[in-house]
Amino acid sequence: MLSMSLDDLHSRILSCQLCDLASGRTRAVPGEGPCPAPIMLVGEAPGADEDRTGRPFVGRCGKLLDRSLALAGINRAEVFITSVVKCRPHQNRKPKKAEMETCLPYLKAQIEAIRPQVIGLMGNVAVSSLLKRQGVTMLHGQVIEEKFLVTFHPAAVLRNKNFQGDFIADLKELKKTALGREKLLDS
Ligand code: URA
Repeated sequence: MLSMSLDDLHSRILSCQLCDLASGRTRAVPGEGPCPAPIMLVGEAPGADEDRTGRPFVGRCGKLLDRSLALAGINRAEVFITSVVKCRPHQNRKPKKAEMETCLPYLKAQIEAIRPQVIGLMGNVAVSSLLKRQGVTMLHGQVIEEKFLVTFHPAAVLRNKNFQGDFIADLKELKKTALGREKLLDS
């Protein structure tokens, strides 16, 4: 799957039958944004609004993400947004480990196609899938393996308003990291 074009990859995701989540979905949600993109954001899995529309982060979490991106000075249209698992788990349960593993090659191939300067991992599902680590509250704000910046999942920020300030600060750091790398590439 690596080296596939993003369009071909997304066609595969839309018709994927590799795990049981396929039977419960209305639409798969591959993600959206420019390709290449300087920043990529990775969430957990689509919810009801995303399953209905086929677009990532359009429900309550999406509204909070949009507001937070704006406060951090990031234009959503310049970010590629996706999730670890591309189909909605039943009643928004957490994706199972096997589902995450089955879906991971799609995410890795997206990263290869999109070539982001930095990838914001939002929440523990994204952190455990790509970094095999846990503990967003400890790791947030840090750039790890030069490529990933850990932050909270917007659903966690909705549940606990105390995370809001840190979430926006992490998004600002994400922008700063991407800009710094683009400048390096320019020079
Ligand atoms: N939460 C996610 O992790 N992804 C979405 O697309 C929507 C909500």
